[in-house]
Amino acid sequence: MAYKVNLNANQQLIIENRDIQTSISLVSSSPGQQQSQGSSITTGHWTAIPQLFKTSSGFILEIESDRGQYFVQIQANGIQTLTTAPLLDNAQQLGFEEIHSTATSQSKMEFEPMAPMKPMKPMTMGNMSMSTNPMSMRMGNMSMQMGEEVKSTTTRHFCTQCGQEVEASDRFCGSCGHQLKH
Ligand SMILES: [Zn+2]
Repeated sequence: MAYKVNLNANQQLIIENRDIQTSISLVSSSPGQQQSQGSSITTGHWTAIPQLFKTSSGFILEIESDRGQYFVQIQANGIQTLTTAPLLDNAQQLGFEEIHSTATSQSKMEFEPMAPMKPMKPMTMGNMSMSTNPMSMRMGNMSMQMGEEVKSTTTRHFCTQCGQEVEASDRFCGSCGHQLKH
Protein backbone atom coordinates (compact mmCIF):
# COMPACT_ATOMS: atom_id res chain seq x y z
CA MET A 1 0.00 0.00 0.00
CA ALA A 2 1.41 3.37 -0.97
CA TYR A 3 -0.18 6.76 -0.87
CA LYS A 4 0.82 10.24 -1.89
CA VAL A 5 -0.40 13.71 -1.15
CA ASN A 6 0.68 17.10 -2.43
CA LEU A 7 1.68 19.30 0.50
CA ASN A 8 2.06 22.34 -1.67
CA ALA A 9 2.94 23.25 -5.24
CA ASN A 10 6.40 21.68 -5.10
CA GLN A 11 6.35 19.24 -2.19
CA GLN A 12 4.90 15.78 -2.20
CA LEU A 13 4.64 13.29 0.61
CA ILE A 14 4.75 9.58 -0.23
CA ILE A 15 4.01 6.98 2.43
CA GLU A 16 4.14 3.26 2.18
CA ASN A 17 3.55 0.33 4.52
CA ARG A 18 6.12 -2.38 3.89
CA ASP A 19 5.52 -5.22 6.29
CA ILE A 20 5.85 -3.62 9.74
CA GLN A 21 7.72 -0.57 8.44
CA THR A 22 6.18 2.67 7.34
CA SER A 23 8.38 4.55 4.94
CA ILE A 24 7.81 8.26 4.63
CA SER A 25 9.37 10.25 1.79
CA LEU A 26 9.21 13.96 1.32
CA VAL A 27 9.89 14.92 -2.28
CA SER A 28 10.65 18.52 -3.12
CA SER A 29 10.82 19.51 -6.71
CA SER A 30 11.69 22.77 -8.31
CA PRO A 31 12.42 23.39 -11.97
CA GLY A 32 15.46 21.34 -12.91
CA GLN A 33 15.94 19.46 -9.67
CA GLN A 34 14.25 17.03 -7.35
CA GLN A 35 15.23 16.32 -3.76
CA SER A 36 13.86 13.73 -1.45
CA GLN A 37 14.34 12.89 2.18
CA GLY A 38 12.95 9.84 3.80
CA SER A 39 12.43 8.13 7.07
CA SER A 40 11.35 4.63 8.02
CA ILE A 41 9.42 3.94 11.20
CA THR A 42 8.45 0.61 12.75
CA THR A 43 4.69 0.93 13.08
CA GLY A 44 3.30 -2.53 12.42
CA HIS A 45 0.70 -3.11 9.75
CA TRP A 46 -1.70 -0.30 8.97
CA THR A 47 -5.28 -1.01 9.92
CA ALA A 48 -6.58 2.07 8.12
CA ILE A 49 -5.40 4.55 5.52
CA PRO A 50 -3.22 7.08 7.36
CA GLN A 51 -4.51 10.60 7.73
CA LEU A 52 -2.66 13.83 7.22
CA PHE A 53 -3.42 17.10 8.95
CA LYS A 54 -2.10 20.58 8.27
CA THR A 55 -1.37 22.42 11.50
CA SER A 56 0.41 25.61 12.47
CA SER A 57 3.51 23.57 13.33
CA GLY A 58 3.73 21.66 10.09
CA PHE A 59 1.99 18.56 8.83
CA ILE A 60 0.97 15.75 11.15
CA LEU A 61 0.65 12.23 9.81
CA GLU A 62 -1.55 9.92 11.84
CA ILE A 63 -0.99 6.20 11.38
CA GLU A 64 -3.24 3.57 12.87
CA SER A 65 -1.79 0.11 12.95
CA ASP A 66 -2.13 -3.20 14.71
CA ARG A 67 0.41 -1.84 17.20
CA GLY A 68 -1.44 1.34 18.02
CA GLN A 69 -1.50 4.93 16.92
CA TYR A 70 1.51 6.86 15.66
CA PHE A 71 1.92 10.55 14.97
CA VAL A 72 4.65 11.86 12.73
CA GLN A 73 5.46 15.52 12.32
CA ILE A 74 6.55 16.57 8.86
CA GLN A 75 8.26 19.90 8.48
CA ALA A 76 10.43 21.45 5.81
CA ASN A 77 13.51 20.53 7.79
CA GLY A 78 12.68 16.96 8.66
CA ILE A 79 10.43 14.12 9.69
CA GLN A 80 10.07 13.15 13.35
CA THR A 81 7.89 10.84 15.38
CA LEU A 82 5.87 12.52 18.12
CA THR A 83 5.66 10.87 21.51
CA THR A 84 2.38 12.55 22.45
CA ALA A 85 -0.75 12.98 20.39
CA PRO A 86 -0.95 16.52 19.02
CA LEU A 87 -4.06 18.68 19.11
CA LEU A 88 -5.79 18.36 15.78
CA ASP A 89 -9.03 20.19 16.55
CA ASN A 90 -8.63 22.97 14.03
CA ALA A 91 -6.35 21.12 11.68
CA GLN A 92 -7.19 20.84 8.04
CA GLN A 93 -7.22 17.30 6.72
CA LEU A 94 -5.56 16.45 3.43
CA GLY A 95 -6.60 13.51 1.30
CA PHE A 96 -4.24 10.78 0.22
CA GLU A 97 -4.21 9.40 -3.26
CA GLU A 98 -3.43 5.73 -3.72
CA ILE A 99 -0.45 5.04 -5.92
CA HIS A 100 1.13 1.91 -7.27
CA SER A 101 3.92 0.87 -5.04
CA THR A 102 7.26 0.11 -6.58
CA ALA A 103 8.01 -2.48 -3.91
CA THR A 104 4.73 -4.31 -3.60
CA SER A 105 4.61 -7.43 -5.71
CA GLN A 106 1.46 -8.85 -7.25
CA SER A 107 1.47 -11.75 -4.82
CA LYS A 108 1.22 -9.43 -1.82
CA MET A 109 -2.00 -7.90 -3.04
CA GLU A 110 -4.91 -9.37 -1.20
CA PHE A 111 -8.35 -8.32 -0.19
CA GLU A 112 -8.37 -6.60 3.16
CA PRO A 113 -11.70 -6.46 4.97
CA MET A 114 -10.73 -3.24 6.79
CA ALA A 115 -10.10 -1.25 3.63
CA PRO A 116 -12.92 0.45 1.77
CA MET A 117 -13.70 -1.23 -1.53
CA LYS A 118 -12.49 0.60 -4.57
CA PRO A 119 -13.19 -0.74 -8.04
CA MET A 120 -9.65 0.04 -9.23
CA LYS A 121 -7.95 -1.74 -6.38
CA PRO A 122 -6.64 -5.20 -7.22
CA MET A 123 -8.58 -7.70 -5.21
CA THR A 124 -9.35 -11.34 -4.76
CA MET A 125 -12.61 -12.78 -3.53
CA GLY A 126 -13.13 -16.52 -3.56
CA ASN A 127 -12.44 -17.72 -7.09
CA MET A 128 -12.92 -14.25 -8.53
CA SER A 129 -9.98 -11.94 -8.95
CA MET A 130 -9.48 -8.62 -10.56
CA SER A 131 -6.43 -6.55 -11.20
CA THR A 132 -5.40 -3.59 -13.23
CA ASN A 133 -2.52 -2.93 -15.59
CA PRO A 134 -3.51 -4.65 -17.71
CA MET A 135 -7.09 -4.85 -16.61
CA SER A 136 -7.97 -8.46 -16.13
CA MET A 137 -10.74 -10.34 -14.45
CA ARG A 138 -11.10 -13.95 -13.60
CA MET A 139 -14.26 -15.63 -12.40
CA GLY A 140 -14.19 -19.38 -11.99
CA ASN A 141 -12.94 -20.73 -15.31
CA MET A 142 -13.78 -17.59 -17.26
CA SER A 143 -11.27 -14.84 -17.71
CA MET A 144 -11.24 -11.48 -19.36
CA GLN A 145 -8.41 -9.14 -20.13
CA MET A 146 -8.40 -5.57 -21.26
CA GLY A 147 -4.95 -4.35 -22.06
CA GLU A 148 -3.55 -1.84 -24.45
CA GLU A 149 -4.44 -4.12 -27.29
CA VAL A 150 -8.16 -4.03 -27.70
CA LYS A 151 -8.11 -7.26 -29.69
CA SER A 152 -6.86 -9.16 -26.65
CA THR A 153 -10.29 -8.94 -25.03
CA THR A 154 -11.30 -12.56 -24.77
CA THR A 155 -13.96 -14.57 -23.03
CA ARG A 156 -13.20 -18.26 -22.86
CA HIS A 157 -15.75 -20.93 -22.20
CA PHE A 158 -15.13 -24.38 -20.89
CA CYS A 159 -17.27 -27.48 -20.69
CA THR A 160 -18.63 -27.84 -17.16
CA GLN A 161 -18.52 -31.61 -17.55
CA CYS A 162 -15.05 -32.39 -18.91
CA GLY A 163 -13.27 -29.02 -18.89
CA GLN A 164 -12.65 -28.95 -22.64
CA GLU A 165 -12.56 -25.43 -24.10
CA VAL A 166 -15.66 -24.73 -26.16
CA GLU A 167 -16.89 -21.87 -28.34
CA ALA A 168 -19.42 -19.47 -26.85
CA SER A 169 -21.82 -20.43 -29.65
CA ASP A 170 -21.51 -24.17 -29.06
CA ARG A 171 -24.58 -25.85 -27.70
CA PHE A 172 -22.84 -29.14 -26.99
CA CYS A 173 -19.30 -29.93 -25.92
CA GLY A 174 -17.26 -31.21 -28.85
CA SER A 175 -15.36 -33.55 -26.59
CA CYS A 176 -17.95 -35.25 -24.39
CA GLY A 177 -21.26 -34.10 -25.84
CA HIS A 178 -22.43 -32.43 -22.62
CA GLN A 179 -25.19 -29.88 -23.21
CA LEU A 180 -23.80 -26.40 -22.53
CA LYS A 181 -25.74 -23.64 -20.84
CA HIS A 182 -25.11 -20.02 -21.74
ZN1 LIG B 1 -17.30 -31.86 -22.35
